[in-house]
Amino acid sequence: MMKRTVFSIVNQKGGVGKTTTAVNLATALSITGKSCLVIDLDPQGNASTGFSIPSDRRRPGTYEVLTQKVAMEDAVKSTEVNGLGLVPSRVDLANAEAEIPENITEKEYILKNAIEKLPGQYSAIIVDCPPGTGFLTINALAASDKVLIPLQCEFYALEGLSQILRVIKQVNSELNSSLDLDGILLTMHDARNKLSIQVEEDVREVMGEAVYKTIIPRNIKISESPSHGKPVLLYDHACIGSEAYVNLAAEVLGKGNFGGLNGN
Ligand code: ADP
Ligand code: MG
Repeated sequence: MMKRTVFSIVNQKGGVGKTTTAVNLATALSITGKSCLVIDLDPQGNASTGFSIPSDRRRPGTYEVLTQKVAMEDAVKSTEVNGLGLVPSRVDLANAEAEIPENITEKEYILKNAIEKLPGQYSAIIVDCPPGTGFLTINALAASDKVLIPLQCEFYALEGLSQILRVIKQVNSELNSSLDLDGILLTMHDARNKLSIQVEEDVREVMGEAVYKTIIPRNIKISESPSHGKPVLLYDHACIGSEAYVNLAAEVLGKGNFGGLNGN
């Protein structure tokens, strides 16, 4: 059977590059021929917007999946990227937890159970998490094999990191013993900014090999692309932002995820 890897993109802080990474890592992996599914688990629906899924195509979405109204398979939308599917979200996803019947005991495993029932065509499933460490993020971590933590190159980066690492450790011991940190991704790095360079040094010193070699630079094309409803790789495939996400995909594949570079 084909190996399927579930990746969560997690950081309790907002605005650190989670959605940008989910959208563009999935796109880069799809371009290498891996069949990908992005699950938009943020009620803000930024990943859905990033793939230009209009509001009338967002139902059913992750809300219906988590409230167990539909199977995940029936909530998948196609995107402009070949081989890349998306399960969209809407603001009502924020109410999903409150609407789960009392008699469901393991509500941390709803997403995991839904993913397990998916047919086998996806080799990579990438979950774009909301900020915070509530019900939605815990469901994502309970369902995942790997975690990718984007870390914005700014002053409080390391402080936020220890918090999220604690949550991952707790989920690992209580809910999901196969959960593993794939890597920490430095985002919005500005090579002309002393602070960016200092943060990079500090994070590499403390976290060592857990930090991806690839760094995502601050890049105007990356920030423009969502307003065009496109991943940066489709918006401007030659810009440094696109190049960085292609490198990240290669690094993730090089770690043996999704059956490695040559597997499926
Ligand atoms: P999160 O999902 O963690 O809240 P986003 O991916 O939405 O973060 O990024 C926050 C904002 O920063 C968005 O406006 C996004 O376009 C912008 N952004 C993210 N990564 C970069 C980058 N490498 N260069 C420039 N802008 C970026
Ligand atoms: Mg986001």
